[in-house]
Amino acid sequence: MTDINLQKDFPVPSNELSRLSEIHAYGILDTLPEQEYDDITMLSAHICNTPISIVAIIDETRKWHKAKFGIDKDSVPRDFAICSHTIMNNEILIVEDTHQHEIFRHIGMVTNPPYVRFYAGVPLTNSDGFSLGTLCVVDTKPNEINDYQIRALKALARQTVALLELRKSLHNSRKLQQQISEKNLHLKALCQTDDLTSLYNRRVLERELSRELKRSRRYGGSFSLMMIDIDHFKKLNDTQGHAAGDNAIIDIAKLLDLESRDTDVCIRYGGDEFIILMSNTNVQQSMDIANRIRIKVENQTTSLANLTVSIGVAYIDRFDLTEQTILKLADTSLYQAKKSGRNIVILQEISAQV
Ligand code: GH3
Ligand code: MG
Repeated sequence: MTDINLQKDFPVPSNELSRLSEIHAYGILDTLPEQEYDDITMLSAHICNTPISIVAIIDETRKWHKAKFGIDKDSVPRDFAICSHTIMNNEILIVEDTHQHEIFRHIGMVTNPPYVRFYAGVPLTNSDGFSLGTLCVVDTKPNEINDYQIRALKALARQTVALLELRKSLHNSRKLQQQISEKNLHLKALCQTDDLTSLYNRRVLERELSRELKRSRRYGGSFSLMMIDIDHFKKLNDTQGHAAGDNAIIDIAKLLDLESRDTDVCIRYGGDEFIILMSNTNVQQSMDIANRIRIKVENQTTSLANLTVSIGVAYIDRFDLTEQTILKLADTSLYQAKKSGRNIVILQEISAQV
């Protein structure tokens, strides 16, 4: 296992690919320094009586320093590091004098600054057996550590792994939370829209109408609720089939969406009936929009050929009304439009009492 890979100039664990993907799951690489990890290097250096201590993660190419005490480097090439050898075993690696070591006397960290002479490193091995990196102490002169120091260094390495595990579960629960809120948004959208047309459904109408009433009560201004119903729609279904009927409903929905303004709320109220809620709209504007829609449908030559709509508009200039009264007013306007021969707009208003 500890054979040096000559191609890479550093030993590679047999589970390297899984080890690397495990490291990425922690989301730790290239994060900013954190007090908890800094504390561990400070304590390790003090306890082991060395000038340098490092918490390192060994990724594909680097020994990256999550925490460093007594050294400035953020990372060193993997082939420079004695730690690259430490992760090959589950045991502490101690080198009292690198110059006496057959391999390490030639390694980058020994032949270059900080010119390591003494090294003790414990692999940071997680519960799945992956060695993610090391906790090491380093001296620039030969040194040694006793049993008590070794036990302490191992304990601090376990604490480091515990910190990493905590980060991973936090990382995972954030990811999960994000997935949940994305799903929620999707569900919310589904709850608010009509399957066939993707227009808003009645639930949204109830909410928006009561909002509109509150807004108008507070800030004044008038608004309109337009109820649109396809004329003799049953006939289309009967003569051309339900699918043709569906297409016509979809096309009307598109037309309404196109003709309404950004601030209007377009709703499929049910069956062949639609509602457009128009805030801050006066009588003339309401009539204009309604007639424009009516004429557009009448002149369509696609799936809407031969179809017309009747439109009942409730124009509201008084704010002591309930949602039901407003809907009722639009409904009776629509009923009158149907009675008057269809393909027509009827507007009724409830204005401020004098
Ligand atoms: P009117 O001019 O009085 O409105 O006559 P109408 O035939 O349109 O009568 P009404 O509005 O009462 O009937 C609507 C019909 O729309 C009834 C139903 O079969 C049909 N319908 C409702 N929802 C759908 C749908 O999603 N797809 C299809 N294809 N037809 C629908
Ligand atoms: Mg109808």
